[in-house]
Amino acid sequence: MMGLSINYEEVCKAALRLKTVAHLTPVLRSKTANQITGSELFFKCENFQRMGAFKFRGAFNALAQLSEEQRSKGVVAFSSGNHAQAIALAGQLLQIPTTIVMPQDAPPIKIAASKGYGGNIVFYNRYTEDREAIGQKLAETYSLTLIPPFNHPHIIAGQGTVAKELIEQIGELDMLLVCLGGGGLLSGCAIAAKALNPECRVIGVEPEAGNDAQQSFRTGQIVKIATPNTIADGAQTQAVGHHTFAIIQALVDDIVTVSDAQLIKTLKFFAERMKMVVEPTGCLAAAAALEGIVQTEGKRVGIIVSGGNIDLKQFAQLVSL
Ligand SMILES: *Cc1c(COP(=O)(O)O)cnc(C)c1O
Repeated sequence: MMGLSINYEEVCKAALRLKTVAHLTPVLRSKTANQITGSELFFKCENFQRMGAFKFRGAFNALAQLSEEQRSKGVVAFSSGNHAQAIALAGQLLQIPTTIVMPQDAPPIKIAASKGYGGNIVFYNRYTEDREAIGQKLAETYSLTLIPPFNHPHIIAGQGTVAKELIEQIGELDMLLVCLGGGGLLSGCAIAAKALNPECRVIGVEPEAGNDAQQSFRTGQIVKIATPNTIADGAQTQAVGHHTFAIIQALVDDIVTVSDAQLIKTLKFFAERMKMVVEPTGCLAAAAALEGIVQTEGKRVGIIVSGGNIDLKQFAQLVSL
């Protein structure tokens, strides 16, 4: 794994840092899901993680490694939602001031949660303004440390603890399905899965409307697209990052896509059959298996359910479709 931004050692160190602060999330199974797919599916439920998504892992791992000086000045993050909440919560736990750059149209529940964890929120328009530029400017003006949502070795290492934990909980897998936006979760999980279980096929799943990672994976160059229109708001990224892409290229076996209609079917499946609330982005990996986009027959398959933060009104609308 020479040349990649992190190795499995970094994931193990992240797991130690997280040991007393992150939840060890459950792995759930469903007979119905197994019957539909003819496989054994293991759902790693990060919708039950602190703040409702795996992003707490990367955020805490990154903030825990800042210097005293960086801690006292504070951090800034830009995010469509879950990364913001994760940074705000990690900052609260580590007593580091946090400033969050969020789109005006971010789900209200995510805005409220970030505020609730003590984050100082700065809004922007995601169709006309560049959040990265805004974040950069705040960082310079107030000497804040910018913590990106996915393209950072400490974030990637933290997210990789999801796959490490899953394989430790249920043993070897034939396949691991992981959703992706910017690829922090996928790249970290690929590092952990291939280290613990080299035969495990690792497959990324992204929204059909925004298949930039699939295009990048196939062409060998990072492809940037316009902000995609999809209900999977956690995967509305325009491009993967150079850290995440190098790992994806080296270790990931394939990238597939899922439509919004398939996400809605899967969201309803989770609600009806497994009695749990999963946000649309969190349904990506499961949809790839349940909708037959990836052939899983006869295999032991890990599925990362990445988060559960959804506005209840939107949830009610989606389950009644
Ligand atoms: C951020 C997020 C993703 C995508 O993660 P990346 O590391 O950007 O690929 C997927 N699901 C949820 C719930 C998220 O919050």
